[in-house]
Amino acid sequence: ARQFTRPLNDLANQFNTLLSAVAGAERVFEILEMDEETTDEKEAVSLSNVKGEIEFRNVSFSYEEDSKTIRNVSFIASKGEMIALVGPTGAGKSTIINLLSRFYDAQSGSIWIDGHEIKTVTRESLRKSMAFVLQDSYLFEGTIRENIRFGRLAASDDEVIEAAKTANAHSFIMKLPNQYDTVLKQDGGGISQGQKQLLSIARAVLANPVILILDEATSSIDTVTELRIQEALGRLMKGRTSFVVAHRLNTIRRADQILVLSEGEILERGTHDELLASRGFYYELNGQH
Ligand code: ATP
Repeated sequence: ARQFTRPLNDLANQFNTLLSAVAGAERVFEILEMDEETTDEKEAVSLSNVKGEIEFRNVSFSYEEDSKTIRNVSFIASKGEMIALVGPTGAGKSTIINLLSRFYDAQSGSIWIDGHEIKTVTRESLRKSMAFVLQDSYLFEGTIRENIRFGRLAASDDEVIEAAKTANAHSFIMKLPNQYDTVLKQDGGGISQGQKQLLSIARAVLANPVILILDEATSSIDTVTELRIQEALGRLMKGRTSFVVAHRLNTIRRADQILVLSEGEILERGTHDELLASRGFYYELNGQH
């Protein structure tokens, strides 16, 4: 459903517009904060020492009145687990992410983080526990250093470089004429799709979130860069609860749980091997058998 303007995309687009318009990036967050659709409860608590245990209990949600987008979705993601969301286009994968990050609130059922219902926690503390690596790596006009530092504005130059190394981005950056001072055009013009992803991974490494949300790229990327991305993602996800809208078999294979969605429902769940063995919908999706 990429033709729909998704909240995550909106947010990122606003980022870009605002970043070029406003001096301090901290202000961007303040401005975005005022502009969101869900509001905090009066008594909302601020999460601290987040472990990253997530539970969906019978969650149903519709964007519009007469059609249920997701139905009765239940799952538990334990601390540090990787959950892959797979299924055909329109199945509801992004919607689950939108609910988890509270761009929308579920109409029925409940979503929990570390035993708190997410409606009862402040959005600020919820979002602080999360970092996003999205298909379109939202890069802004500025240097590579600034773009990575956006993950944590207080990070030192050394920390930026460390993050780039972890993300397998350092070597390509060092080959650019101005290295970390290379100025990217809006949307990262001037570097390849795969390199943009490495930068957005570096940004997430620097953010050091407890929960990671990944929308895996569908575009084809050369094999070498693809391997670098997979390796960097492996490092980034280690020890974090990760939700991946997954398109790559490499990624799906190593998931602790695969949730197979169809028309808004979880049709099957399990590991790659379990799902193949049960010869159901997932097996069919994997077509090559
Ligand atoms: P894809 O693989 O194409 O990204 P998806 O599994 O992520 O698909 P969703 O984006 O969650 O699917 O969409 C689920 C359903 O909700 C689709 O029918 C889609 O058209 C609809 N939908 C998505 N976003 C909105 C929106 N903002 N307003 C109304 N309907 C929407």
